[in-house]
Amino acid sequence: MATELAAPQVDRDKVEQGVRLLLEGIGEDPEREGLVGTPDRVARMWEEFIARRQYKCASFSAEEYDEMVLVTLPVYSLCEHHLVPFFGKISVGYIPKDGKVLGLSKICRIVEHFALRPTIQERLTAQVAKRVQEETDAIGVGVIMEATHLCMSMRGVQKPGHVTTTSKMIGAFMEQPETRQELLELIK
Ligand SMILES: [Zn+2]
Repeated sequence: MATELAAPQVDRDKVEQGVRLLLEGIGEDPEREGLVGTPDRVARMWEEFIARRQYKCASFSAEEYDEMVLVTLPVYSLCEHHLVPFFGKISVGYIPKDGKVLGLSKICRIVEHFALRPTIQERLTAQVAKRVQEETDAIGVGVIMEATHLCMSMRGVQKPGHVTTTSKMIGAFMEQPETRQELLELIK
């Protein structure tokens, strides 16, 4: 099975205009030396962040393997409320059905697909779990994410070093406490 996860397109002109307005709005001169190239650079950064991640997702069979698969990855994303980063690690666990496993790089790409856009941690966690379930038809999927949100460190409650944990459990991880416990022990 190959499924396209298409990335949105970035309108660089619009991003540049927006960044120029933002700079003016915070009392900066967008024409001063350090800032003159900034709208263009920011637009290119967004393009790299958002648009350059088209790939195909393939699963392959490993018939002998029906134990839990657990992959833990670093993750960077962007808070959709404040447009600043949140980042940390995401652990993706699943129990294959009939040996149907995803390549590790595919899990990485699924995480990237949902992380490289403005979102919230709860949705990102749930989307990754649902997608892995769809790709593998797994007996169970459990995703746990721990992240620091710069919007909480830099402003608002200003709690540097805080960590927010979210989780999404599907199938066996939802229904069987001992299976969920096994996942939590492995992640520790
Ligand atoms: Zn935020």
